[in-house]
Amino acid sequence: MADTSIHILPDHLANQIAAGEVVQRPESVVKELVENAIDAGATSISVVVRQAGKQLVHIIDDGGGMHREDLALATVRHATSKIRSEDDLHAIRTLGFRGEALASIAAVADVEIRTQRRGDDSGHTLLSKPGSPPEIKASVPGQGTQVIVRNLFSNVPARRKFMKSDLTEFRHISETMQKMALSRPDLRFTFHDGDILVFDVRPAELRRRIMDVLAIDAAKHLVPVAGDENGIAVEGYVGLPSTARQSRSGQFLFLNGRPITSRSLAHAVLSAYEHLLDHGQHPVFVLHLTVDPHKVDVNVHPQKHEVKFDDERAAYLVIQAAVADALRNAEVIPSFLGDLPLASRPLQSLPSSPTGAPTYVNRLTGEITYGSAPAHRPTPGTTPGPTYQPTQRPTYEVPTQRQIDTLFGKTDEELAQVMQAGLQYVVTTSAEGLVVIDQRAAHERVLYERVIKRQPQEGQSGQALLFAVTIKVSPSRIAILKEYLDEFTALGFRLEIVSAGAIEIHAVPSDVQPGNEEATLEGILQSLEDVGTLPRDKRRDGIAAVYAAKQAMRRGDRLTSPEMRALVKDLFACSVPHVTPHGEPTYVVIPFDELVQRFR
Ligand code: ADP
Ligand code: MG
Repeated sequence: MADTSIHILPDHLANQIAAGEVVQRPESVVKELVENAIDAGATSISVVVRQAGKQLVHIIDDGGGMHREDLALATVRHATSKIRSEDDLHAIRTLGFRGEALASIAAVADVEIRTQRRGDDSGHTLLSKPGSPPEIKASVPGQGTQVIVRNLFSNVPARRKFMKSDLTEFRHISETMQKMALSRPDLRFTFHDGDILVFDVRPAELRRRIMDVLAIDAAKHLVPVAGDENGIAVEGYVGLPSTARQSRSGQFLFLNGRPITSRSLAHAVLSAYEHLLDHGQHPVFVLHLTVDPHKVDVNVHPQKHEVKFDDERAAYLVIQAAVADALRNAEVIPSFLGDLPLASRPLQSLPSSPTGAPTYVNRLTGEITYGSAPAHRPTPGTTPGPTYQPTQRPTYEVPTQRQIDTLFGKTDEELAQVMQAGLQYVVTTSAEGLVVIDQRAAHERVLYERVIKRQPQEGQSGQALLFAVTIKVSPSRIAILKEYLDEFTALGFRLEIVSAGAIEIHAVPSDVQPGNEEATLEGILQSLEDVGTLPRDKRRDGIAAVYAAKQAMRRGDRLTSPEMRALVKDLFACSVPHVTPHGEPTYVVIPFDELVQRFR
C-alpha cells in the first residue's frame, strides 16, 4: 500500500454522511416523500407510518410516475428531474430540486419504490438496501408511485439511538402532515398511524382545510387576510387574540406552497396585533405567500425550511399591513378594548419613546414605564405578604405558620366582613391589617391543592355526563392526550379516544361548570401543547397547575358574599396559601402600622 492518507470515500459512505443533513428523523422521510408526491402532480396522497416511522413509512400517490430509466437514477445523489441549469436554480417552482432525498433515505434505510407512468401498461419496482446497488424488476400495474421505507437507521446505530420516543417522533410527523395538508388544500391527504386513521381530508377551500386539520372553529376564531403589493401576495387566516398561544405551535407560513419558517415574517404578523396580545403570547395564523420565484432563494438550507427573500422588508410590510387590515375589518380592536374590563389589561404599549426603548402606560394609574413591560401586579411592599421588586423577578417572603394562623383563625363573624373591590380583589381584615386577596390567583391555588390532594382512585368519581360530549381534536393533541391519559383520569375526566380526530367526554372533574366541558379540556390540551413534554414525575403537578389556571374564576367575575367567604376559608386552608402554583402572590396584607404611618 502506498503511504498516502487522502482518498475519496466510497459512494455508499459519502451518501451515508450526507444523509445526516437531509434525514434527521422519521419526520424528514415523510416530508421529503410527500414533497416528491406533490411535485409529481399527485391529486391524492396517502401516508402510513408504523412505530412513528421507525419501522415503516409508506407513501402512495397518483402522480405522474417514473420510467424505468428514471427509476434507476432516482436513488442516485444529485439525480433530479426538476432542474437542469443554473437558471432553473434561480427560479425554483417545485418543492424538491436538490436530488438528494431519495439518495439520502436509501443510504440509511431499506427502500422500495413501485411506480408506473400515466398511460403505460406496466410498472417497475426498485428494491434497495444501504450499501448495495438497487435492483429493478417488473411489477404489477398500478398508476402513480409508492415509496416504502423500512428499518430507518438500522445501519447507523448512533442515529437509531438518537431517535426520540415514538410519541415524540410521531408528533413531529403529525405536525409535518398538518403543514403539508395546509400547504395544499386542493389535494387530498390521507394519514394513518398504523391501522388508525389520523385524518382523511378532501380537496377544499383553505378555511375548511384549517377546520379539518387544526380543529379550529373558523367562524368563531378566524379572520381572513388578503394583501398584494410589490409583487408579493399574502392570503390566508389569522386567529382572534383569544386564540393566541404560549408557543408558536399555531403558526403556519407557506411560500409558493412550501412550508417555511421565518422569525421575521412571524414577527410581522405579531406586530400587527400591537397591544392586543400579552407579552409571550403568539397569534395563530395560516398564511400563504406568493412571490415571483426569481425573487427568493430557497436553496439556503438542506431541509429547505428557510428561504431568503431579495427584499424581506417588503414581505414584512405586506404581511403586517394585511394582517392589521384584517383585524381592523373584523373590528377586533374596538370590540376587544370595549369588552374587557380595563383592569385586566391595564398596560398599553406606546408607539415609541425618544430613546427608542419600549414604553408602557398603565391605563389605570397613568403611570408610564420605560424599558421592559412591568408585571401586572398590585404593588404591595408589605409583610407578611409577598413583596414586589420592579427590577427583578418578584420574590416572596414565606409567611410563618403563626401569620397564616392569624389569618385563617378567623371567627365567622370576622369572615362576614368581606367585600369585593374592583371586581378582582376580595378585601377582608385580620388582626394585623387589611388583607387584599387576588380572587383569581387565590382560586387557582385552591383548585390546585384540591386536585393534588385527591387520590387517583377518587378521580374516577368525576361528575358523569348524562350524554357523552364528542369533540374534534387535532392529531397532535390526541398524541398529548394519550401521553397524559392517566393524569386526566386522576383529575376526574373520563375520556375515550373514538377516532384519530375525535374524543368522547364521559365525565369531568366536579369543578367544571356544565356546558364548559369542551372548553376546559381544550384549554388544558392547549397549555400542555405549549409547555411540551413534561417528565413523568412532574406530570401530575403540571396538569393540576394547568387545570387550576384554566378553571379559576376570572378577574372581573362578580362574587357573592358566600362565595367570597368560601374563597377566603379555602385559601387559608391550603398548605401553601400565599402563592399560586406558578409562584404569583395570592394576597397582600397592608399592616395597620402602615395605615397609621400614612395618617400621620
Ligand atoms: P428531488 O426531489 O430534489 O428532485 P429526490 O431524491 O427527492 O430529489 O427525487 C429524485 C427524483 O425522483 C425526482 O426528481 C423525481 O424525478 C423522481 N421522483 C421521486 N419521487 C417521485 C414520485 N413520487 N413520483 C414521480 N417521480 C418521483
Ligand atoms: Mg424530493
